[in-house]
Amino acid sequence: MIHLARIRNVTLTVLCFLFIFQTATLVQADPENQIYTERMALFKKIEAITQVPWYYFAAMDNYERNTLPSTEEEKVISIQFDETEWFGLGNAAKSTEQDIIKHFRGIGKDGNDDNQADANDPEDILYTMANHILSYGLHEDDVKIAIWEHYKRDLTVQTIMNTAKVFQKFGDIHLTDRAFPLDTNYNYSYRSTWGARRGFGGLRIHEGTDIFASYGVPVRSTTYGVVEMMGWNLYGGWRIGIRDIYNIYHYYAHMSGFDKDIKVGQVVQPGDILGSVGSTGYGPPGTSGKFPPHLHYGMYKDNGYSEFSFDPYPFISKWERMEKNNK
Ligand SMILES: [Zn+2]
Repeated sequence: MIHLARIRNVTLTVLCFLFIFQTATLVQADPENQIYTERMALFKKIEAITQVPWYYFAAMDNYERNTLPSTEEEKVISIQFDETEWFGLGNAAKSTEQDIIKHFRGIGKDGNDDNQADANDPEDILYTMANHILSYGLHEDDVKIAIWEHYKRDLTVQTIMNTAKVFQKFGDIHLTDRAFPLDTNYNYSYRSTWGARRGFGGLRIHEGTDIFASYGVPVRSTTYGVVEMMGWNLYGGWRIGIRDIYNIYHYYAHMSGFDKDIKVGQVVQPGDILGSVGSTGYGPPGTSGKFPPHLHYGMYKDNGYSEFSFDPYPFISKWERMEKNNK
C-alpha cells in the first residue's frame, strides 16, 4: 500500500510539473499576446461595472500608447491623467483616499476596491476614465465631448473615435495584419524615393514612395482604419486618406478613381480595395496623363502634438515580403 501511494504521489508530482512547465512554455511562447489578453479582460471588466462600451477607453489607451517612444517599456494601460486632474487642486500631499480626492474635486477613483485611487493602477485608471465618459453621457456626441475635455485636441479626438469604430467592428484590439498597397498579382516596381526633389510645384520634398504599375491595377488599404478624406487635390489628383489605429495617416494619390463602395467614415481592413492606379493630378479635376501611371503612397505620424511625414519604403517592402511568404 505504501508503495502504491508513493507511486501515485510521484505520478501526481510529475503531472503537476508537466502542467506548470507546459503552461509556462505556452505563456513564454507569446508574451505579446498575453498583454493583449490582459488588456482586453480589463476593458471588459470595466465595461461590465460601468456600462461604458469597452472600445472607447480601449481606443484612448491605444492612442496614448502610440504617442510614446517605442523605446519605452509597454505598460498594461497607457492612459495618463495629469496630477491636478486626478488628485484635485490643493491635494498637495497627493492623498489617494477617495474622500480626500473628492473634497479637492479630483476625478481619481478606486476601481479595484482597495479604497485607494491609484493613478498608476490599471483598474483605477480605466474606472476613472469610464466615469469621466459617463458624466457626459453615452451618445456618440457626448463621448466625443468627454474625450475632447480630456485631451483638448481635435486630431486626437478624431483618431480615438476612428479607432473605437475599428475595435467595435472587429471586436478585438490585437489587429496586426497588413497588406501591400497594390494587388501583388500584378506587375509593379518601386524604389526608395523619399525626400527627393520633385519637378512640379516648386521646392516641395517628395513625401512618399511611388509605386509604378499599369492603369487599373487595384489599390488596397494597407491597414485597419477609417477613411478620413477622399476627393480631388491639385497635386494628388484623385486621392484618399485613411487614419489607422496606430496614429498614422495613409495617403494614396494619383488614382484613376475610387471603388464604388468606399465612403468617408467607413472602416477598412488590410486588402480592402480603395480604387485603381492612375495618373491623375497636377491640374484641375480630371487632369490625367501628365506623368506615367503610379500610386503615390505617403505615411504621416501623429505624436500627440504634431503630424510629420516619414519614409514608407521600409514598411511597404516588409508588407510585400509578408504577403509573399503567406502565398
Ligand atoms: Zn509620389
